[in-house]
Amino acid sequence: MTITENIGKLGFGLMRLPRKDGKIDVEQVKEMVDLFLESGFNYFDTAWAYPGSEEAIREALVERYPRDSYYLATKDAAWRVGTKEEAEKQFETSLERLGTDYIDFYLLHNLGNDRTEPFEKWDLWNYFLEKKKEGKIRHLGFSFHSTVDELEPILRAHPEAEFIQLQINYADWESNAIQSRKVYELSRKYGKPVIVMEPVKGGLLAKPPEKVEKVFKDKEPDSSCASWALRFCADLEGVMTVLSGMSDVEQMKDNISHMRGFVNLTPQQRDTIKKASEVLSTYPIIPCTSCDYCAKVCPLDIGISGTFQAVNQMALYGNKEFSTGQLNWLVGMHGKKYAKDCIKCGKCEKVCPQHILIRDELEKSIKIFE
Ligand code: SF4
Ligand code: SF4
Repeated sequence: MTITENIGKLGFGLMRLPRKDGKIDVEQVKEMVDLFLESGFNYFDTAWAYPGSEEAIREALVERYPRDSYYLATKDAAWRVGTKEEAEKQFETSLERLGTDYIDFYLLHNLGNDRTEPFEKWDLWNYFLEKKKEGKIRHLGFSFHSTVDELEPILRAHPEAEFIQLQINYADWESNAIQSRKVYELSRKYGKPVIVMEPVKGGLLAKPPEKVEKVFKDKEPDSSCASWALRFCADLEGVMTVLSGMSDVEQMKDNISHMRGFVNLTPQQRDTIKKASEVLSTYPIIPCTSCDYCAKVCPLDIGISGTFQAVNQMALYGNKEFSTGQLNWLVGMHGKKYAKDCIKCGKCEKVCPQHILIRDELEKSIKIFE
């Protein structure tokens, strides 16, 4: 049996779970889990580094369904800690939080730039291979956020990686920074099944500007923009599953309606996506996916992703009043500091998977909203 067999084309990404009163809304997550499984999907993707996510999915899934009725993926973020012991401990912590004695798909989280090295210097690949021999890991792979030049040495050095998770979406397909097409093609050259992350680019492709939406609506009035983004990824050869970070039941229903019984796109549909992508590329968007890795290292608690969301709103829709409202809501009203307080230490840029020049963009945002 290949590792891709029996895995649904839509995967439930657990990074953006619904929240209520500042906490993950586990009751709604249960509803989503039920709907997802009933619809024939079975892949759940969390990480040690997603606050509260592993515990929430234990309650909503692991404690409520037979362990062999779904696949569980989680990840080790060695670059977030200072010692080999702490990095190794993340694995046991994940097992505990998830309430399981094995992980179906275990990933070295977010390789690329400075984040690759801790896994090498602490010999973690071999540590996880041991866990695999013990039956605690079924399949070992890694997620990657960097350029194709950095990917090839990792693929060469680690043939034990059984699969790879990549940021792929139609907007980043030809982007120089994200290089979706290049990293996808290289991974396939090495025969790795691909798991897609960020198919809707942190939500941006679910609500693109009117001109982009029109390209899609002219072709299929009843299909959502998000569904086009998901189908673009699912259509690619060798894609095991497309992770969607669904945040409520409605989003999940929409995603499911387009991914159940998925059939490959027609040449005309592929042309439509290409056209939409060309229109979208005319907007100057900051490629922030709101992953908030930067927030965890910023000593001043600057509302970086909130600021960038507001800047992007402004670039896409040009409504200053609305965008300023967004800025105040996402930054000030969430207890974060504004861009003007940034001390330009650069810590955020070291961890940003999108290689955003955060300090420059924050500086520009001050002018946009002044
Ligand atoms: S450069 Fe600014 S935003 Fe980035 S970590 Fe330092 S203070 Fe925070
Ligand atoms: S700026 Fe980078 S690290 Fe911060 S949220 Fe955006 S993509 Fe993530």
